[in-house]
Amino acid sequence: MSLRYADMVVDEPDLEELGKRYSALLNQLSASDCEPEAIIATWDGLRRQTATWQNLTELKFNQDTTNPDSISRQQKCDEIAPQLTELDISIKSALLDGPHRDRLEKTIGKQAISLWTSQRMAFAAEIKEDLVTESKLVSDYNALLSAAELSFDGQTFNHEGIDQFRFHTDRIKRHQSMTVKWRWFDDHSEQLDELFDRLVSVRDSMATRLGFDNYVGMGYQRMCRVDYDAGDVDFYRNEVLQSVVPFCVEQMRQRKQTLGIEKTMIWDESVHGPGGNPRPNGDQNWMVDRAREMFDAMSPSLGRFFRLMIDHDLMDLDNRPGKGGGGFCTDFPQYGLPFIFANFNGTADDVRVFTHEMGHAFQGYCSRQQILYDYVWPTYESCEIHSMGLEFLTFPHMHRFFGSGGDRFCREHLVDSMMFFPYGVAVDHFQHLVYQTPSASPADRMSMWKEVESKYLPWRDSGDIPYLDKGGRWQLQRHIYMYPFYYIDYTLALACALQLWHLSQQDYDQTLETYEDLCLRGGEASFRELAASANLKTPFEEGLLPMIVQTATQFLATSGK
Ligand SMILES: [Zn+2]
Repeated sequence: MSLRYADMVVDEPDLEELGKRYSALLNQLSASDCEPEAIIATWDGLRRQTATWQNLTELKFNQDTTNPDSISRQQKCDEIAPQLTELDISIKSALLDGPHRDRLEKTIGKQAISLWTSQRMAFAAEIKEDLVTESKLVSDYNALLSAAELSFDGQTFNHEGIDQFRFHTDRIKRHQSMTVKWRWFDDHSEQLDELFDRLVSVRDSMATRLGFDNYVGMGYQRMCRVDYDAGDVDFYRNEVLQSVVPFCVEQMRQRKQTLGIEKTMIWDESVHGPGGNPRPNGDQNWMVDRAREMFDAMSPSLGRFFRLMIDHDLMDLDNRPGKGGGGFCTDFPQYGLPFIFANFNGTADDVRVFTHEMGHAFQGYCSRQQILYDYVWPTYESCEIHSMGLEFLTFPHMHRFFGSGGDRFCREHLVDSMMFFPYGVAVDHFQHLVYQTPSASPADRMSMWKEVESKYLPWRDSGDIPYLDKGGRWQLQRHIYMYPFYYIDYTLALACALQLWHLSQQDYDQTLETYEDLCLRGGEASFRELAASANLKTPFEEGLLPMIVQTATQFLATSGK
């Protein structure tokens, strides 16, 4: 019988015992005649055990953010995480500074050396307490949002639940539900501002103590951006502004006509036509059945993998009170298994989130036997190629979920994806402004958001929703609180995923093979290298975004309407 999720119980690591084992490994490494690869293998085994405990703890907390046991376990996990990082950094430092570095570059690869160098730059024992403070603030933000109770239409929703009305055919419902949602932000603005203020200040203080000018540099190292820098990102944001923003402005102009309205307001942005967007033709269990058929039809390895996810009970998809928001994929490296978490709400978004997280899960499973746990997951901008790539590679199967609405779903998903570029770079630009000016007040930050919003999303009109009008939209973007500088990774990967989609229109099977090969490589190389190995350009190269705009325009003009 296969091991099911409920049977996975991992004890909290004994820090004292672990410390002794790390000291022993450091001792062994100091001997000039040691076999560093064997020592690394032992260390890697320990890391996979602690990572399994950390990931299980975090997942169980997200499954029920109101459960006192889950809360206290999560707190414990947040408290000891910096000590675990410190232990790992001690081994990484010994390897980076030791006599075997050149040899290791050949035997385990230069990507590990680059990753460890970045991670070491972003850590020192004196910031351990700040790291604990940071994760507590992040948990508080998460708990605050998850506990929201929004009364609308005679029912109570959390933030994920009420979002289904964004897609409603009744414009008044869209407007009212959004008003309710943002009134909640208005009511909690003091807490939200204070949490973020403290996050900026603790991040800035860590960065300056580590010798960075401000948190931007530290943020880049923490994200392990090993082969591009803020200059490349700045070039890329500008490319989005020059080529994608005009495409989006035109889309919104057409939307206005399709919807028969005078102006597209923020509450109209998620609706593509007067009849509403396609919805999946069944409930969650029905969708899981359709997904099984789809993956079986796509390739034997995807089919086998999806059965494994079902057999081991590795999915939690329904939305329920107290459950943490969003969707994510995590893994239990001790068992070599991933897990996907989502909040289905009955809209087309469910299919998007599901294929996205399945892309992550498939990649994590494909690369589970990589020589280092560091290589199981790539850095995030590469990770998101696998997730978004699968969203587009499943296009030919969308009729399974949407029936005759399948083609429409694909067109609308494509438009939404293109519209995502400007939003994604706006979030990134905003974070640069925030961390470059850590002394800014909450009101200044609202102005910063207004500034980037009007630059990258010039069509946006928040109408009579005061919180949005004053520049508060960013507070809903969890990544800004929880994972600074992460957000742009989605858009970098999207540019790569859209190339996979472009290639799949010429040769589907060959592209699927390329995709699976990329998944097998996991994180053994950097973003630029991984992209090049799959014949993909990165969006730091001139001309890629215009090509993508052209492909999208052509698809929209020719695919069946
Ligand atoms: Zn993702």
